Amino acid sequence: MRTRRWIFSAVMRLLLRCLRIGQRHRSWPTQKVRQLWLYGRLCLRSLLYNSFTDSDTALDALFEPVYWLVDHITRWFGVVFVALVIILTGSVVCIVYFCLLPLILRTYPLPWVFWHVIYGHWNLVMIVFHYYMAITTQPGCPPQQPKSDIAAVSICRKCIAPKPARTHHCSICNRCVLKMDHHCPWLNNCVGHFNHRYFFSFCLFMTMGCIYSSVSGWDMFWEAYAAIEQTYGQTPPPNFTFSQRAFHKSVVYAWVLCSSVALALGALMIWHAVLITRGETSIERHINRKEKKRLQKKGKVFRNPYSYGPLGNWKVFLGVERKRHWVTRVLLPSTHPPKGSGLSWDTSPCVSEQKTDLLAI
Ligand SMILES: [Zn+2]
Ligand SMILES: [Zn+2]
Repeated sequence: MRTRRWIFSAVMRLLLRCLRIGQRHRSWPTQKVRQLWLYGRLCLRSLLYNSFTDSDTALDALFEPVYWLVDHITRWFGVVFVALVIILTGSVVCIVYFCLLPLILRTYPLPWVFWHVIYGHWNLVMIVFHYYMAITTQPGCPPQQPKSDIAAVSICRKCIAPKPARTHHCSICNRCVLKMDHHCPWLNNCVGHFNHRYFFSFCLFMTMGCIYSSVSGWDMFWEAYAAIEQTYGQTPPPNFTFSQRAFHKSVVYAWVLCSSVALALGALMIWHAVLITRGETSIERHINRKEKKRLQKKGKVFRNPYSYGPLGNWKVFLGVERKRHWVTRVLLPSTHPPKGSGLSWDTSPCVSEQKTDLLAI
């Protein structure tokens, strides 16, 4: 009886052991795979982890190929646009010199001849000078190493370098630009601290030149237009020579081009004039609008920390320190540098509370 019980318990122990071994071997592959999965996930997360990662960064990463394409196309088209500005402006200047000026000298009274020759040449010199300076002057980049005169610094995520106040990264130029306004394809250059004045002056003088040409060429345009209409609508057509037909078409082309540019560039120039009066750049306009709404919710009033009042803003922008500078630095070509290094900015004392928030943007 005792022997039978011992055999029974030994068999049961053996069965239990076999069962445990079976269970252990059955779970082995699952555990191993699970361990590998957890380890891989940890490795991946440790490689990709970034405390700055948010939905904006994820969207940026998703649209990175689109941005890359747009940036490269804009960079390439910049050269085409600059060539286009030079060719179109050159064509109008040629038409004025070869077609209109001889006519003005022959038929206009002397005071009008003086006016057209002096004003036209002054305006042309201002356009050429400011365009040349705007495309050849670098807008200014922050130093790669931190410097003591940088007022407030954040880090550019693209350059991994210190970013002074009012500095923004241009993805087309692939660099940070001091007091960046925008990247202009018509200049194939960024508009920033050191060439902002040249850009605006070019817009202003080009608009003035186009308005001047459109207004003073109004009668000539209608005469030329009527002559072209006669050529195509009258039977038999009037007997115009080749040079007369070329003259009529040139006058109509120059007038249509000048009046179109006057409208388009004039609107852009007025918008930039409003921004300069407010002491803002195009980028800061968006930032300041958001900041205004944020402070409004808290019952506070937003004040632009870089605004010195409308007249003060214009004086700072144009570099006018004395009365005679309105003539020597605004109405005549001048290469004087802008006020300050672009690395630090004087701010109005009434806005110190919101200054820190804005500098970090
Ligand atoms: Zn940058
Ligand atoms: Zn740029």
